[in-house]
Parts: sequence; structure tokens; C-alpha cells
Amino acid sequence: MRIDHLIAGRSVAGRDYFTTVNPATQEVLAEVASGGEAEVHAAVAAAKEAFPKWAGLPAPDRAKLVRRLGELIAKNVPELAQAETNDTGQVIAQTGKQLVPRAADNFSYFAEMCVRVDGHTYPTPTHLNYTLFHPVGVCALISPWNVPFMTATWKTAPCLAFGNTAVLKMSELSPLTAARLGELALEAGIPAGVLNIVHGYGKEAGEPLVRHPDVRAISFTGSTATGNRIVKEAGLKKFSMELGGKSPFVVFEDADFERALDAAVFMIFSNNGERCTAGSRILVHKAIYAKFVDRFVARAKKIAVGDPLDEKTIIGPMISQGHLAKVRSYIELGRKEGASLLCGGVDAPLVSDRVKKGNYVAPTVFADVDNRMKIAQDEIFGPVACIIPFADEAEAIRLANDIQYGLSSYVWTENIGKAHRVAAAIEAGMCFVNSQNVRDLRQPFGGTKASGTGREGGTWSYEVFLEPKNVAVSL
Ligand code: NAD
Repeated sequence: MRIDHLIAGRSVAGRDYFTTVNPATQEVLAEVASGGEAEVHAAVAAAKEAFPKWAGLPAPDRAKLVRRLGELIAKNVPELAQAETNDTGQVIAQTGKQLVPRAADNFSYFAEMCVRVDGHTYPTPTHLNYTLFHPVGVCALISPWNVPFMTATWKTAPCLAFGNTAVLKMSELSPLTAARLGELALEAGIPAGVLNIVHGYGKEAGEPLVRHPDVRAISFTGSTATGNRIVKEAGLKKFSMELGGKSPFVVFEDADFERALDAAVFMIFSNNGERCTAGSRILVHKAIYAKFVDRFVARAKKIAVGDPLDEKTIIGPMISQGHLAKVRSYIELGRKEGASLLCGGVDAPLVSDRVKKGNYVAPTVFADVDNRMKIAQDEIFGPVACIIPFADEAEAIRLANDIQYGLSSYVWTENIGKAHRVAAAIEAGMCFVNSQNVRDLRQPFGGTKASGTGREGGTWSYEVFLEPKNVAVSL
């Protein structure tokens, strides 16, 4: 298979190609066009040309086309889910039942929403002030390799629904499903040039895109290191930066133990642990620490690791051999730092013949972790849990906040006052109380500190994809 760029509604061949590989089998899935400055310039020019007509469409007409794209995704869930699983190693139970259906929902949700964009009025005795919301123009949408289709649609849906045009750049490690998104957008009747896709590497394709003077807004999801680079490269633009995380999962002694345990296991091992909102620092009150660790390890040992196309698999392969090496290096480091390795480790787990060349890591649990260790401070982005004891509420809050990141957080307690106090005190963009991460499309999604700036979701997506203008009329 060959994947080309999509520019002005046409498939554009690359001057060069790279391969995308199935991380479960190492088979080459496709030759992918590798874009650079020339393709980025052509794509931005196409988006700029398409912008006035698309922005000028009445919102209900745009909504119809955006909704139709969501319907086409919904119709193609099995095909898209299989492609996403093959390209990323994310297990089919997640891609087929959660991630691709949610991608379809993103379009229906923002189609509904774009017809409701309204303004405010601020009357004074001398002036009538009112707000207009304009689309921004050409937006750069940059997606990482974990849950790439969901992330790309989470950006594309509000971007297009609000009247902007886009150049989408997927991660070089996971371009397959976005290529289908481009085809489905055209099939839905979204005009040529409204959604353009340039494939390629960060340095060659990403950098010219974020630097381009005609790009007015950047919605980026990826690592904190790349986010920092983009902010420096891009100059003055609108930004939404959804970056890394190392989220605290705090379990107090009075928590509903079984539910907290379930959620803790889910929040670090689902999506292969390659999840920005993973509860990767599990802080447990010392009164229940030993019991929690025992039960957590027993659960981790039972998790099915293997073929991501098998409905029963919970953990599939890591996205690439490079990432596998990174995750293993952190497991080695954890041992050197003195944490107790209770299960998992660097040895590859046993898997079926079909996937025996896959990039596998067994669910790994470190206990007796000190929050200052690097395994507790760095985003490992794999199925590696760090369990840290704490003595009281004040220490739990101090440990939760003693980190550069601030994306998500989880608090488990049956004490209502404590739940609210701790939720308020944790430095994070999101806090889930007695719950795993449950996404509501209206909620502000995003992080603070090194986890990013800006929020997306519901009206929060106005921040990046709409430009408010105040009109003051003298009376
Ligand atoms: P990454 O930063 O390496 O790459 C992300 C994207 O940026 C890719 O498309 C890449 O090609 C591109 N890129 C790289 N260098 C660039 C440059 N100089 N200019 C422009 N674009 C460039 O991240 P990754 O390894 O693909 O993804 C994993 C990271 O993403 C983790 O840190 C994870 O926490 C984060 N993430 C965050 C969220 C969130 O919502 N906060 C969601 C998912 C993933």
C-alpha cells in the first residue's frame, strides 16, 4: 500500500517515502510519502484558498457536511479500528469499541455545536458592545502516535465545524487512519482544500508547518519537549498544547478498595500504558499500602498481553522498537534506583507465534517508589506502574504536586470533604474523584504546568479555533 499527501483534494505523491510498520509483527504496512517544506507550502496555500468559501458557508450547511463525515466514520468502524490496531498496537477491544466510535462522535458533537456559536452583549449608557466569533483561518493540527485517530478527529472536528481550514500532520509512526479520514472527508462532500494532510517527520514536515506565516493557530498533541520546541519555532500564533503527563492516582485509606483497585489497574495498563492521562504514579495511604500492592500485583500478573487483534488482549505491543527500548531502559533504571520490582521487567512476555516479533513489555509494577526517583518523575509511557506510600492528606497533596506535569489526577476517598479539598489542591487540568478518566466532550480537556496550555472540548475549543471580536457601537 502507498499513502500520499492530500493537498487541495488531490492525492500528491511524495518525493520520498518512509515505511510504517505493524508493531506486533514488524510487517511493513505502507510506504508513506515524506513531506517537507514544498508540500507544507502547497497544503497551507490550498487551505488558505479554501478558507473564505468554507468560512462563509452558513453554519447549518457546514454542520451537515461535518455530521456526514462522522456518519461515514461510524459506518467504517471495523475497517478503521483494524487499521489503527495494525498501525499502533492499540488493542482491538479499545480501537473498535471506544476510540474509533468516539472519533465519529467528535464530528456529530461539533456539528451540533457550530450552529449554536453565539456572542455576548455588554450594553452601557453610551455604547452597545457585542461579540462576534470569527474562524481563525488556516490551522495546523499535529497529532502523536498514541490514539492517533481519536486525537486527529478531536482537532479536525471543531476546527472544520467552526469554519477553519486545516493542514493535518500525523505522527510518522501512525499515519494510516488519517489517510482514510482525508478520503472520507471528500466523500462526505467537504470541499477540496478544507482538510489537507501532509505526512512526514517532525523536523522536515512539522517545523515548516508551525513556522508558516499563514498558519494562524496550532493545535498540538505530543510530548512536552516537542511542545516547547514548537512554541519557540512558531512565533506569535494561537496555541493549544496538549503535552505529557505523569498523573497522580491517590488512594486514601477510606476509599472503596475494590473500585479503586480496578480503576488503578485500568488507568495504567489500558491503551498499553501509552496514554497521556495514565495514572502512572499511584499514591497509596500507608494503612492499606501492603494490601493494595499485593492485590495490584496479583491483578497485573493476570493481564492478557499479546495479539492486539485478539478481543481478549489488554496489552498489545509498544509502538516502535525505539519506544520499547525506552520503556525497558526505565525498568532497568527503576531497579538501579532501588524500587522493588514486583512483576514484569525487561524480559519479553510469552505471546503467540503470529506476534512473536512484537515490541512487548509485560505489565510491570514497582513498589516502594520514592517520588523523587526518575521512574516517578519521568513519563515512561508504557505499562509500568509506580506505587508510592503516603502518610496523610498533606503528604498526598505534596507528592501529587511534586512533579513538572499537571495533566490529569485521580482521588479515591469516601470522605466528601477530603475529596473536594484534595481535588482543589492538586495542580492539574483535570481531577477525577472516585472515577477513572471518563471523557465528556463538553469538559475542558488539557493540562497545566509542563502538561500544556489551553483547553479543548465544548466551548473551550473556542479558545484555539475561534477569534472573538468586540464591536462597540456609540449610541
Ligand atoms: P512527539 O512530541 O514526539 O510527536 C508528536 C507530533 O509532533 C508528531 O506528529 C511529530 O512528528 C511532531 N513533531 C515532532 N517534532 C516536531 C517539530 N519540531 N515541529 C513540529 N512537529 C513536530 O510525541 P509522540 O511521541 O508522538 O507522542 C507521545 C506524547 O504525546 C506523550 O508525551 C504523551 O503524553 C503526549 N500526549 C498528550 C496528550 C494530551 O492530551 N495531553 C494526548 C496524547 C499524547
